[in-house]
Amino acid sequence: MFTALRRFKDKVLGWFSNDIGIDLGTANTLVYVKGRGIVISEPSIVAMNTKTGQVVAVGQVAKDMLGRTPPHIQAVQPVVDGVISDFEVTSELLSYLINKAQAGHTKLLGPRVVVGVPSGITSVEVRAVRDAAKAAGAREVHIIEEPLAAAIGIELPIWEPTGSMILDIGGGTTDIGIVSLGGLVNSRNVRIAGDKLNADIVAHMRNEFKILVGEKTAEEIKIAIASVAPGRERIEAIVRGRDLVSGLPREIVISDQDIRNAIGHSIEELVDSLKEVLETTPPEIISDVMQSGVHLAGGGALIRGLPEHLTRSIGIPVVVANDPLTAVVRGTSVILDNLDLYREALLKSDEELVPTE
Ligand code: ADP
Ligand code: MG
Repeated sequence: MFTALRRFKDKVLGWFSNDIGIDLGTANTLVYVKGRGIVISEPSIVAMNTKTGQVVAVGQVAKDMLGRTPPHIQAVQPVVDGVISDFEVTSELLSYLINKAQAGHTKLLGPRVVVGVPSGITSVEVRAVRDAAKAAGAREVHIIEEPLAAAIGIELPIWEPTGSMILDIGGGTTDIGIVSLGGLVNSRNVRIAGDKLNADIVAHMRNEFKILVGEKTAEEIKIAIASVAPGRERIEAIVRGRDLVSGLPREIVISDQDIRNAIGHSIEELVDSLKEVLETTPPEIISDVMQSGVHLAGGGALIRGLPEHLTRSIGIPVVVANDPLTAVVRGTSVILDNLDLYREALLKSDEELVPTE
């Protein structure tokens, strides 16, 4: 009876407010609005004026400024290494997104917001996100750990008494999570993700080719030709940077093999983290995962040959989820549509989380 009433209340409130789902990623933030789909997908970057403390730009506009700003303008990422780095910046980003998502669609009541956060964030950070969303006008804020949201987004049977495993390779961090009976039974957040691979490429170009390239260039090379196993054909890319010896601009041609050499070590570290999670997971659940496989999400899932390589390394089938970059935000949308059903999966109170390393 009580549940029926609550469900009715949820429905009625839905008429008078916008329901918004947010994937607060380290690299990209995606926003879903109920009834309208994914309306925003922008880099999680805020450009601040350090002299005045004012926000200069948010999202794509701020990213375009990266590496090109005068000294007093700084591009800040609200989520660094899976940690909410700065409350002010997070507030600014959330309020920009919540307002932009509702522009032209204002309703009587403030929106109900579901926010996906990296697994293992501390209670202080959860409170910061909650307060930031409230400050941005949210009427209700619900918070969910990203591996769980991703599992919901890719329609894994999270309520079943069977283990499902997610590997979400983002920009700053990779979330490894095993879900069963509506909760995370084991999870880990590691710092080997897209940004680390970019840094590996920058270092490799410097050490092997004596050429200095920026992070943005490194990311473009990665997306264009990164792979973890040789394909049938050699792929090449042109790299422009500064010659470290002459100090002058120089152009070189590199191959997919060069990038494999650059990122190989990090990929192996990722494999080790996966193995560590598997080693600390109860045997019954491992047996489920061996059958259902590991589901890859996040931008890193798109690295060529990665699922095959991981499958060989851990002996469990690894598959790329459909549309891996939107898994988390799709999860938040499912939660919004069935808030009552998913209440159990949400972080109920800030106290529930214990600080983890
Ligand atoms: P987050 O959830 O942390 O915001 P995303 O899931 O949005 O991260 O993934 C962003 C990362 O994925 C970036 O490091 C980006 O370089 C990387 N990425 C995106 N597309 C590709 C691709 N095709 N190949 C390899 N890496 C990619
Ligand atoms: Mg993510």
